[in-house]
Amino acid sequence: MILTVTMNPSVDISYPLEKFNLDTVNRVVKVSKTPGGKGLNVTRVLKQLNDEVVATGLIGGALGTDIQKKLLEKGIKNNFFEISGETRNCIAILHEGNQTEILEKGPTITKSESDNFLEHFEKLVKSKEIKIIAISGSLPDGLEINYYSKMIEICEKYKKSVVLDCSGKALLEVLKNEYKPKVIKPNTEELSQLIGKDVSKNPDELKKVLKDKLFEKIEWIIVSLGADGAFAKHNDKFYKVNVPNIKVVNPVGSGDSTVAGITSAIHENASDQDLLRKANVLGMLNAMEKLTGFVNLENYDKLFNEVEILEI
Ligand code: ATP
Repeated sequence: MILTVTMNPSVDISYPLEKFNLDTVNRVVKVSKTPGGKGLNVTRVLKQLNDEVVATGLIGGALGTDIQKKLLEKGIKNNFFEISGETRNCIAILHEGNQTEILEKGPTITKSESDNFLEHFEKLVKSKEIKIIAISGSLPDGLEINYYSKMIEICEKYKKSVVLDCSGKALLEVLKNEYKPKVIKPNTEELSQLIGKDVSKNPDELKKVLKDKLFEKIEWIIVSLGADGAFAKHNDKFYKVNVPNIKVVNPVGSGDSTVAGITSAIHENASDQDLLRKANVLGMLNAMEKLTGFVNLENYDKLFNEVEILEI
């Protein structure tokens, strides 16, 4: 079974409007409200793949209860830790081909909640059923910047692998720590932020960057490159993944879908080639849909055969 972690989930509200009028009333007819946050996108894709998955993280208030209810309605197992703060709303206004987002910061976590979640997490991680943990997204206020490092240390104690998809200081902190995730999946923007200079999508440059001491002892580094596929390092091997042209509808969440593919492939002990294919096909399938964290698996096999993987 796979454990996914979302530390700052949200109720994602989408307001489609023909025209967005400022400084006056806008009436919305077709509202959609879905559980959101990067870890929950990963969870949804894993569920569609028929992988056994359970979601955890921090949840609070009426919106937290709503998320749990909606996940259960979809048959998604979850075991969140309840906090005193309110889970947030994130609003996307879809208008005239644009997407204007209003993102709440979310609750501030207290010291005791921070300590108690680690105990809750340890109980889940040590369960024999859990084979791998996928951690995604940012940390809410109140948690120390090395919080993911503490979680990875717990996973290491029980010899469970971690796929980590976060950015900025939280990721840098993890890379400096003794305990490493098995996989990280930055995009070039996140990679540039990490090393403090702009990184292009050029494979030679990426190869050089990934040899940096900062990434030592991380088994897999998979840099996702949007329409250019991906560049990956697995121990001493380097791969360029080329993807076919697709009809893109909404690429938001393709990275999360890719993380679901990576986690699922490791869970089933896939080869390097199959892992990279699965990860990229799921990223593409997400980009071909309107909904975030939704994939239509009908096209899976066709795309799987069209992905090209070159060892370089
Ligand atoms: P997000 O933060 O929105 O989740 P990301 O920047 O982490 O995205 P991307 O690199 O945009 O992730 O996309 C992940 C994967 O999805 C890519 O490696 C690729 O396989 C696929 N993908 C995304 N966009 C496209 C596209 N326009 N054409 C083909 N494949 C795409």
